[in-house]
Amino acid sequence: MGKASRDKRDIYYRKAKEEGWRARSAFKLLQIDEEFNIFDGVKRVVDLCAAPGSWSQVLSRKLYLPAKLVPDSKDKDHPLIVAIDLQPMAPIEGVIQVQGDITNARTAEVVIRHFDGCKADLVVCDGAPDVTGLHDMDEFVQSQLILAGLTIVTHVLKEGGKFIAKIFRGKDTSLLYCQLKLFFPIVTFAKPKSSRNSSIEAFAVCENYSPPEGFNPKDVHRLLEKIGSPSGVDDLDCSSGWLEGPNKVYIPFLACGDLSGYDSDRSYPLPKVTEGTYQSLDPVQPPIAPPYKRALELKKASSHGTRELEKLSLDS
Ligand code: SAM
Repeated sequence: MGKASRDKRDIYYRKAKEEGWRARSAFKLLQIDEEFNIFDGVKRVVDLCAAPGSWSQVLSRKLYLPAKLVPDSKDKDHPLIVAIDLQPMAPIEGVIQVQGDITNARTAEVVIRHFDGCKADLVVCDGAPDVTGLHDMDEFVQSQLILAGLTIVTHVLKEGGKFIAKIFRGKDTSLLYCQLKLFFPIVTFAKPKSSRNSSIEAFAVCENYSPPEGFNPKDVHRLLEKIGSPSGVDDLDCSSGWLEGPNKVYIPFLACGDLSGYDSDRSYPLPKVTEGTYQSLDPVQPPIAPPYKRALELKKASSHGTRELEKLSLDS
């Protein structure tokens, strides 16, 4: 799909470029904040699965840049924002970048080291695997990313802190809700206005981090496995029997963002510009090392490239 046709179809894509956001996802975090005030009193944040960086931009603009403007403020008083992704990301002012896999224990260690003994007030995770279109599969892989995020949370989040994570709504949503409830007394699933209704995406907004008494972060997986097992945590048993009839789990679900604002599933006419022609804007920050970079290079390189491209698709 060409740039202009995306501009025509998707108002948030267009607005993101106009306002200097690297991706339309920025609006999702902003709309979650409108409803839940997630940045209140926040100084230290971890942004998991951050590339191309629009959430990190929001964090920088909401937390780092205002703090920098305070007269006589010292570097040590500035908010600490650590962003992690598999992909490299172009720099953002006030954001420390770590390239790594959040499911890898060593990545968690690197993040913890940046906090130097302090704890984070907020962890956000917009992680998404490459979507296959098979809903069960996509939901499963997505839940593994959230659990990896939760593992990092148990190491770096301070008690009382918040965790925001992208989820895919599906048949295991109730189980995920119960798992999150083990650590957070308040869990709401939110759907920002900028997230398309046609998408199964939503966001878990988890407040007031309170791990179970005597909890050891090393035991997070064992604890989560216990949910649903006969010897599991009694009051949070989410085995299938529990989820039926009178025991059904009702998950608080909230639409957020200005409900009379732009609808992400609608097409809006392009704005009129002088002389009546609309000029599509370039992306704010093209990906610096996209996975498809080599394929594009090969495509450019004539017939030789076509042969290499065929070889590339056979190898992968
Ligand atoms: N929040 C970002 C923004 O506003 O620009 C968009 C995030 S994008 C929807 C999902 C990201 O998840 C991709 O950049 C992808 O590389 C990252 N990701 C997927 N699996 C990951 C993993 N295991 N570890 C780290 N990052 C991962």
